[in-house]
Amino acid sequence: ATPTAIMAGTGVAARHGILIKDAQALELAHRINTVVFDKTGTLTEGKPSVGAAVPFNSNSLHSFLAKAAAVEAGSAHPLAAAVLAYAQGQGVQWPGVSQLQDQPGRGVSGMVDGTRVYVGTARWMRELGVPESALSAVNQALPDNAPTHAWVAEDQQGEVSLLGALGFGDALKAGAFAAVQNLTNLRVKSVLLTGDSRASAQRVAQALGISEVQAEQLPHNKSEAVAHYRQQGQVVAMVGDGINDAPALAAADVSFAMSSGTEVAMHAADITLMRPDPALVAQTIDISRRTYNKIK
Ligand code: ADP
Ligand code: MG
Repeated sequence: ATPTAIMAGTGVAARHGILIKDAQALELAHRINTVVFDKTGTLTEGKPSVGAAVPFNSNSLHSFLAKAAAVEAGSAHPLAAAVLAYAQGQGVQWPGVSQLQDQPGRGVSGMVDGTRVYVGTARWMRELGVPESALSAVNQALPDNAPTHAWVAEDQQGEVSLLGALGFGDALKAGAFAAVQNLTNLRVKSVLLTGDSRASAQRVAQALGISEVQAEQLPHNKSEAVAHYRQQGQVVAMVGDGINDAPALAAADVSFAMSSGTEVAMHAADITLMRPDPALVAQTIDISRRTYNKIK
């Protein structure tokens, strides 16, 4: 394409709220045939709310919520804000927290009233030695419409015991269905990649018509998944909101950051979407194809 065509393409994109970093990014975009989407904050609103709170065994709802909220008060994860809002709504007051440890893709832990409290995935709970029987007892009590789970456990004399779990719902973004549909029309495959549970990922994938799903992925697994598609010879775009997604964005041929994302991702991304609309990905590919096909 001529410099004039590239400038025109970049200009059209900008008017749609698509900021393309350089000519190379615009050029690569017309060859994308696989788009990997992060789930939370990318295809969903990323504003989860608590739909259920299930204490385990003799733990009271109030005491398990207070411990969960204490730890989440130190986390920037979208689920943390939901836990605090819910605890507040239940009239729960939470103690202070110290020695916070963020475990990306797993959860967060901290010292509360002299014991270490963990809030995160079932997989992490298993790694910490929480018995399967405890997890499945609580899992059965969590409703289907709150498929994202945060498990709460604490250290009791060297053993990690389950206190309970929270179930969250997160609405799909308005443009999410069109995003996948438009890519299909352009003969581009969509993949869902998430740190969330399989059940939660399947729910979103089914609603949007995505057939390829990779769930329970830690941040480094996400970048390996992107690399895997590239090794198969595909030209891969990764779309994320930036939270924990920086390594996967960096591993893609073309990275798309949603404007609601963190600054880290914004700087790292080839293409920044100024509106949180995942359908802009297909639009970008379309603009790039027009730019590069006109000239040939
Ligand atoms: P996604 O890939 O959907 O953006 P993340 O990798 O950020 O998800 O998180 C994966 C999972 O880890 C969440 O679904 C949740 O179960 C757990 N998790 C991560 N951080 C927290 C936190 N601060 N509080 C509770 N759970 C968390
Ligand atoms: Mg995310």
